[in-house]
Amino acid sequence: MKKPISLILLTFFLGHFSNAQRNKPQNIREYMALTHEVNVLTIFVDTNEEFWEEGEKEYYYNELMKAQEWLVDQSSNWDKTLEFENEEFFVDQQAVVYLDKVSRGIHPKYTIQKIMVELGYDNIEKFMDYHDFDLENEKLKILLLVKSNNRSHAYNLWSVKDVDLAIVYCRNSFGGVTDRYVMAHELLHQFGAWDLYYEVGKVQTKESSRLAMESYPNSIMLNSSKNKDLKEIDELTAWRIGWSDYKDEFSIFDPKLNKEKILAEGKAFRKSLKNKR
Ligand SMILES: [Zn+2]
Repeated sequence: MKKPISLILLTFFLGHFSNAQRNKPQNIREYMALTHEVNVLTIFVDTNEEFWEEGEKEYYYNELMKAQEWLVDQSSNWDKTLEFENEEFFVDQQAVVYLDKVSRGIHPKYTIQKIMVELGYDNIEKFMDYHDFDLENEKLKILLLVKSNNRSHAYNLWSVKDVDLAIVYCRNSFGGVTDRYVMAHELLHQFGAWDLYYEVGKVQTKESSRLAMESYPNSIMLNSSKNKDLKEIDELTAWRIGWSDYKDEFSIFDPKLNKEKILAEGKAFRKSLKNKR
C-alpha cells in the first residue's frame, strides 16, 4: 500500500520534533513564564531584498529595549519580577547574518540552524556550549530583526506550544515601520500569549474575537497599532504568560478547543471567495 502523504509528513515532523525534544527545558511551566531572568539573543538579518545599513539598527534595537521596558513595567502591575538580559552572547548586540529566505513556511529549527552556521557554529548546542549557556534551565528567546517588509510572527522551537523564535520584520507588509508594541506583542507570543484579533481561519473565531474586543479592548494581543498609550496586558494574556491564575472563561479563547470552528470558518470564507469569482 502506498503511504498517504499526510503520514509521510507526520513521520517527517515527528522525526524533527523528537530531535528537538532533547533540548527541551526541564520545567516547561517555569520556562514559559515571563518572569525572572529572560535572555534574549537578538540577531539582525540581511535578506536578498535588503541589507541593514549603518545607523539603521539603532532605532530597532532601541525599540526592542523599549518593548522590554514596557513588559517589565506591566509585570510590576501583576507583582511579578522580570528582567531582560541582552548581553549574554554579544556585548554590542549588533550581530548581522545573511539569510536567503525568511518566511512563515520554514520550520524555526532550520532558521535557527542556518543562523548558527552563519555565526560560525555547527549548531545551537555548540553555540550555547561556547557561551556556557544552560539551555535546559535558563530562559532563552531568539529574536530576528529582518530587513524586509513582511508580517512579523513568532515560532516554536520545541513544540507547537512553546514559541521560542520571533521573527520581526523592519516594516510590515504595507510598509509601516515596526515599533516597540509590535515587538512586545511578538515577545509575548514567545511566552505562549494568544492572538486575540480576528483573522479568518487563524487563532480566534468570529465570536471569540468579538468577545475579546468587549472584554479586553486595550490588549496588546488584540491590536498593537491603535491607541498605543492605552495598551496593556489583559488578564487572559497574563494567565498565558504565567502572571495570574486560570479562570474558566478563558477557555472561550483557546485556539485548540476552537480548532474545528476556526477551520470551518476558514473553509466557508474560501468557498465564498470562490463563488464571487
Ligand atoms: Zn500575534
